[in-house]
Amino acid sequence: MKEEIEQAIKGFVRTSPSNRLKDSDEQYFAEPMVGYADIHDPLFAEYKKIIGDFHLTPAEFLEAEYGEACPQSGTVISWILPVGMVIRRSNRKRTKTPSLEWSHMRCFGELFNESLRKYAVALLNSRGYRTLAPVLNTQWKRIISPEVGHASNWSERHAAYAAGLGTFSLTDALITRKGIAHRIGSVITELVVEPTARPYQGPYDYCLKYSANTCGACIKRCPAGAISEKGHNKETCSQYMRQVISPKVNETYGVTISGCGLCQTNVPCEGKIPAIKQLMAHSS
Ligand code: SF4
Ligand code: SF4
Repeated sequence: MKEEIEQAIKGFVRTSPSNRLKDSDEQYFAEPMVGYADIHDPLFAEYKKIIGDFHLTPAEFLEAEYGEACPQSGTVISWILPVGMVIRRSNRKRTKTPSLEWSHMRCFGELFNESLRKYAVALLNSRGYRTLAPVLNTQWKRIISPEVGHASNWSERHAAYAAGLGTFSLTDALITRKGIAHRIGSVITELVVEPTARPYQGPYDYCLKYSANTCGACIKRCPAGAISEKGHNKETCSQYMRQVISPKVNETYGVTISGCGLCQTNVPCEGKIPAIKQLMAHSS
């Protein structure tokens, strides 16, 4: 069943007409990576301390949806959709605002990700496994508080970390084997499959700033000054989106959601786990 799901997700990404840049054959996303975590992995309880009490565990989502007869075991299936090379290249040249292609990926590509979540839910339900997509669920909500700023009660990044897909970075985004330029999705299902081993020791292993105290390319790439040696300032980043990016690109590019993504392109971790050797090549 695990293999069937993985092939189905990859097939949907490969063949869906919605995974295409407008008026082009170029895909928003290349072949995804898929990972699995036990719904009772202790990390999900820890996230309540790390992210906040408001963050729900997979078991809490299942209980809220199915009540007392909810599944007692199951799996979080998480996927990484790596941004296509043509889109990444177009954004590498930008210094203040994102390219048209990046903006379309961020808006229409995320709509495609939403359809992938629905597809995965329908597939698993059709096989008799109750399944939900947290960010499409009625329990899902955004949180804005003085303590955490902008957040939500399900973090796709943290689910992907638990499912062995990558580690965090100076920008807060996840660095995976296929880099940091991606979108993430997940579903929670009662299907039990073997969890993916996490091939890392700590939450920041793949970021050169944390692992080797070097790099910092994303600091220079950020036009808003939202990234520093101390990390990513979510409020400064959001403010730049609201005040600069959205007014500039939404109408011009015909999008309703914007994201800049400059810190995810033209950096050593753009398309892979960065290595010191690669950093030297990047800066020469
Ligand atoms: S550009 Fe360098 S410092 Fe920034 S997230 Fe990537 S590896 Fe880490
Ligand atoms: S998304 Fe843009 S504004 Fe936000 S941290 Fe990255 S480069 Fe800076």
